[in-house]
Amino acid sequence: RIVYVNGAFVQEEDAKVSVFDRGFLFADGVYEVTSVIDGKLIDFEGHAKRLERSLTELDMTSPVTMDELLDIHRRLVTDNELVEGMIYLQITRGAADRDFAYPKDATPTLVLFTQAKSLVDSPMVGTGMKVISIEDQRWGRRDIKTVQLLYPSMGKMMAKAAGADDAWMVEDGAITEGTSNNAYIVKDGKIITRHLGTEILHGITRAAVLRFAKSAQMTVEERSFTLEEAKAADEAFITSASTFVMPVVEIDGTPLGDGKPGSVALRLREIYLEESRKAAV
Ligand code: PMP
Repeated sequence: RIVYVNGAFVQEEDAKVSVFDRGFLFADGVYEVTSVIDGKLIDFEGHAKRLERSLTELDMTSPVTMDELLDIHRRLVTDNELVEGMIYLQITRGAADRDFAYPKDATPTLVLFTQAKSLVDSPMVGTGMKVISIEDQRWGRRDIKTVQLLYPSMGKMMAKAAGADDAWMVEDGAITEGTSNNAYIVKDGKIITRHLGTEILHGITRAAVLRFAKSAQMTVEERSFTLEEAKAADEAFITSASTFVMPVVEIDGTPLGDGKPGSVALRLREIYLEESRKAAV
């Protein structure tokens, strides 16, 4: 695989990052994951904008422009003959003598790599996902897409140990989001998902799906919802760049509705895929 590191396209075994890199030592870095379908990027602009916002919140700057970033994405798709999968991008503050204070003159580290994966024809669409609920123990700035992902990783392991596919996190009685996705329930035809704030990541897929839902005359409520409300919902689903819209059929062992993927989730997945493919670059 060809990867990108600080200006160079190299074989993955030749890519090097310093042991003093603050991404490695402090998780002082941000990332984005953009999906690729038919060799084209889904919602690149949304990811680029969120990246700029994450960087600004941490007083960092990108070493390349957003246009250059698009070119790097495209070159990796070509060089790796990527038809379907993801492109991972990470920018850290760079290498510096270890110190909690930000260094004054570090050069940011930029790394990108591709991951080939079948996304559109995921078998999980047919079965739906099972989720468990866990306490949300992450830090308070979840709107910044940082690389400190240990708690979500632990959550995923707790889900696996419980025979489930993912965990929904709960704070003050309300669901925040999934370990790597935004969470939704559907009740009496209404789509309910948590409002934006510092408590959740502002999903790029979330923004697109809510826009499509509103254009299709579906009712959307952006507000907190409780675990109890979720268990009593007619259906549920998640969204993320790599899963698009994925039905959830069970929460903490309680089946939702008839226990099968819901019609609203499946319809939104169709619309999302159709519209995103049209807009792909
Ligand atoms: N929430 C969290 C915590 C995530 O990690 C992700 C995926 N990175 C999302 C939501 C979904 O965001 P997006 O639709 O931009 O992939």
